[in-house]
Amino acid sequence: MPGSAATRAAKFLSPIDEAVGPEHIRNMPHAYTIEVWDENEVEILETISIATDVKVSDAAWCAAARVRPGFLLIHKNGDRVMEKLIAPGNRPADGQLARSYVKGLAGVDIMLSELREWHQVVAICSACVRNAALNIDGLRRQFGGNAFFGDVEKRLVCRRCGGRDTVRLRVVNAPRD
Ligand SMILES: [Zn+2]
Repeated sequence: MPGSAATRAAKFLSPIDEAVGPEHIRNMPHAYTIEVWDENEVEILETISIATDVKVSDAAWCAAARVRPGFLLIHKNGDRVMEKLIAPGNRPADGQLARSYVKGLAGVDIMLSELREWHQVVAICSACVRNAALNIDGLRRQFGGNAFFGDVEKRLVCRRCGGRDTVRLRVVNAPRD
């Protein structure tokens, strides 16, 4: 029954295949994608986000780092790699993407204890756009290893504009020396 409600619903709900995706998105010149890779960067496990707008893709990037702990994420503009990060936290033992985001009732967020030696935390004030790298050990001492980004963000005060609850944390790769 082509075109029936059931068929349309099934089509709508089917996941976007990494190589396929809707044709109009595939044909866009600057589509932003976020890919989830296995740890050896051999296989794309999924394309978790396809966006036409960089701000939307950026928000998806921050969300992907929270819901795919321990997986390699690659953020692309077309074929160009913009960011590449192994997300904080541990992959589920069975490697299942579907179970990777479950962290209990506290919700899906990054815990300070999940940060690894290759990570750096950057604080960005949404009011004055000041940004600064924060010391991860210092954050753990101040807020405890079990603190979530959401807890820390609520308590940070911007040094430039004095804004409260305006600072958002972002995980990036630590600079290599
Ligand atoms: Zn500020």
